[in-house]
Amino acid sequence: MAEIVLTGLSTVYPNGVRAVDALDATIADGEFFALLGPSGCGKTTLLRTIAGLEPASAGTVSIGGRDVTGMEPGRRRVAMVFQDYALFPHMTVAENIAYPLRVRRAPKSQQREVAERTAGDLGLAGLLERRPGQLSGGQQQRVALARAMAMEADVLLLDEPLSNLDARLRLEARTFLKRLQRELGMTTVFVTHDQAEALALADRIAVMEAGQIRQVGSPRTVFQHPNSTFVANFIGSTPMNLLPGEVRSGTVQVAGAKLAEADLPDGTPLVVGIRPEYLHLGDDGIPGTVSIVENLGISSLVTLECADGTLVGVTVPEHEEPRVGARFGAAPHPGRLLLYGEDGNLMP
Ligand code: ADP
Ligand code: MG
Repeated sequence: MAEIVLTGLSTVYPNGVRAVDALDATIADGEFFALLGPSGCGKTTLLRTIAGLEPASAGTVSIGGRDVTGMEPGRRRVAMVFQDYALFPHMTVAENIAYPLRVRRAPKSQQREVAERTAGDLGLAGLLERRPGQLSGGQQQRVALARAMAMEADVLLLDEPLSNLDARLRLEARTFLKRLQRELGMTTVFVTHDQAEALALADRIAVMEAGQIRQVGSPRTVFQHPNSTFVANFIGSTPMNLLPGEVRSGTVQVAGAKLAEADLPDGTPLVVGIRPEYLHLGDDGIPGTVSIVENLGISSLVTLECADGTLVGVTVPEHEEPRVGARFGAAPHPGRLLLYGEDGNLMP
């Protein structure tokens, strides 16, 4: 069992930056857990604190029921893959993979055996005698993963492992990583700033901002029910519409259109969240003029401009693109409206 429990965890750098701020989280044994957030929100610092490469300033890290907060990295049974892979350039692939065993002074024959087996598992069999400089980005990434696996750790920490790959390779590597994690069943914390990667891979996603977790949930939950406009803005390949709304006689209105009943006092200011995928163009709904049509491949993103200047994004299937200048309404699918208060938090 390698459940990770973080309690009141803070990491403050000597210069005073509070990169992780009183954070609580529980990552289940065998779970694929994504940490998602903008650059600088503390993702790398959190991983390094779990690994023991940065000291915790407050709180505790426990792995598999052991409090490891004060323990040195080598004793935590944690393997980390760094964003830049951190391979040793002067060593061969085999030596890089077997490095954790060499540190443990395992016999040469065992080092070789583990290197060959792990390389075979990761499709690196023919590359054992090469040096990292003679490998593609995707191959280097797999060597870094192989080295992490050779550690026989309980926990795998991955810091943006796919970010150095080009778009196509990244998709391949993503599928590969998902399969590998399933097979190994290792508790995995995966850091990314790419929401699509997190949605595709994770059992659960934690969305971070300024050293804290804003929301934890399944990909479906954070996509369909973001608990704040921050999370709403961060998830989804087409941005969620966050429209100024108000309440009149128990109805939520946007740009003069009545969208839904709401048990709220008249005049309550609201931000109405609705994904472009959950709107359709027709006679009803928020009225506007088509100002932009962007081709997304199998669908298009249409921007409607309302009389008051509000812009509304609507996804339409291919071949159903309206012409620019046409007038339409954008009507929400039932049950898909999200209401946020002035503080940006989802209303109960
Ligand atoms: P992320 O990985 O989400 O981009 P980081 O954990 O790298 O975020 O950084 C979080 C914050 O801590 C940032 O404000 C960053 O500038 C700061 N920071 C990171 N490393 C150090 C360091 N070694 N010393 C001081 N501040 C740091
Ligand atoms: Mg980082």
